[in-house]
Amino acid sequence: MRAAVLEAGGSPMKIDVIQIEDPGPGQIRVAVKYCGCCHSDLSIAEGSFPAPTPIVLGHEASGIVDEVGAGVENLAPGDTTWC
Ligand SMILES: [Zn+2]
Repeated sequence: MRAAVLEAGGSPMKIDVIQIEDPGPGQIRVAVKYCGCCHSDLSIAEGSFPAPTPIVLGHEASGIVDEVGAGVENLAPGDTTWC
């Protein structure tokens, strides 16, 4: 999948192809359709809030469940969700 990747705080993000692992037990993978960008994301991007890098910013997303891991019973592929 393609994502805006921040290599280091204060540097420009670049669009890159990243690999997403299959979901593990209790996890789901979501095909993100919309994602907000909050002040925490902006602070990480400008380097004033420390975070491990490289990182894909955005933690207020919604989309379609793509795959579910073992033990997930309340969501199925095709369901809409948000986090
Ligand atoms: Zn936030």
